[in-house]
Amino acid sequence: MTAPGFAINDDDAAWAAELFEKVAAMSPDSAGVSRPALSEVETRVLDFLDQRASEAGLETWRDPAQNSVYARPGQRDAVRYILTGSHVDSVPQGGNFDGLAGVVASLLCLRAAEREGLSLPMPVHAIAMRAEESAWFGPCYIASKMLTGSLEDDEAASLHKGDGRALGDHLADLGIPVDKLRAKVPLAELSRIAAYLELHIEQGPLLAERDLPAAAVSGIRGNLRFRNIIVTGEPGHSGAVPRAYRRDPVMAMADLLHRLDESWSTIVQTGGDLVLTSGMLGTDPERHALSRIPDSVSFSLDIRSQDSQTLSGMQGLLDTEIEDIARRRKVSFDTGPASRNAPALMDPGMIAGLKTAMDALGMEPLAMPSGGGHDAAVFANAGIPAGMVFVRNRNGSHNPDEAMEIEDLVAGARIMLQYLMTPQG
Ligand SMILES: [Zn+2]
Repeated sequence: MTAPGFAINDDDAAWAAELFEKVAAMSPDSAGVSRPALSEVETRVLDFLDQRASEAGLETWRDPAQNSVYARPGQRDAVRYILTGSHVDSVPQGGNFDGLAGVVASLLCLRAAEREGLSLPMPVHAIAMRAEESAWFGPCYIASKMLTGSLEDDEAASLHKGDGRALGDHLADLGIPVDKLRAKVPLAELSRIAAYLELHIEQGPLLAERDLPAAAVSGIRGNLRFRNIIVTGEPGHSGAVPRAYRRDPVMAMADLLHRLDESWSTIVQTGGDLVLTSGMLGTDPERHALSRIPDSVSFSLDIRSQDSQTLSGMQGLLDTEIEDIARRRKVSFDTGPASRNAPALMDPGMIAGLKTAMDALGMEPLAMPSGGGHDAAVFANAGIPAGMVFVRNRNGSHNPDEAMEIEDLVAGARIMLQYLMTPQG
């Protein structure tokens, strides 16, 4: 017997390819695409998807957070349903697949199920969400936070990078009940959502390197971030001050990064999950020179893990190492404020279910961590079982060179449909 996931066929693939093409044409930028959060472009994309979904025989409507939702006829009012989807907005000069791929895959599942008259054990609502990217207002996951009642007041007060107006005002313009957001009332009836399933392009190289079209996601890494750590020492002539008399902040920074790198290696070797990046660093260009020992250096630290204990362990390690290096090298560290986002584990039952689905489709059942954040983390942290499928993509995301093949998207969508067709214990 053919696995039901294969109901998604070549015609669906062509339909999806055309959707991507049309949506890209609606959202051009000087390079890649731009679909700003809560913009008219974003609304036009939703209108277009609504039209295509209706043509596929699906019912379409807007939820109280002004996202588009799709279901098979008669299933809009289902008491419980599985929610599948992703976001339609993009970063400026972004790629066409980050977010949109998950929306299109969800539509493919419903389109194939409706056409073939498949009976799913649990009704499915597909959602096309707005405003996931932090590029426009600062906060990310705005739609899923509204749906789960977890949009913070300071997030609602954050200002749009372009027009300087508050996020709350933009939401009110769209007719979203901001008084409920302020009162932390979820805009979705959370008890009706049995699970949340999101397909997304992979933002790293693993699937391409392993020559696999898709995988399940085990968890979404949380992070511990320092935007600007400042190390202060003492300036001096690079030729004149002997080592013992130096208070060199750059050497102190290098020492710290080296020690963190060593610990990173140990943690990974012992089976832990960690990634660590210092993406911005430098001495002051007003004062620095080739032959001058700098007086200060500043750098950023982005530490991520799927495991909250590893993250708090890294915080402890950072404190200890900083204290030791400051004493030895006679410099001072000012880490500034840290920002923390909790990791989100995907539901073990859903990971297992997705792996079973992959197996049934003749695919290697792999589960891998997600380095980037996704709406699925918000649903998971709201207590809704969440699962994700990653699809192979070259060249990373958030850039015009995102490269996802339609066959890989189809493979991912088949995993979803296969999963949705299988009764889950
Ligand atoms: Zn995304």
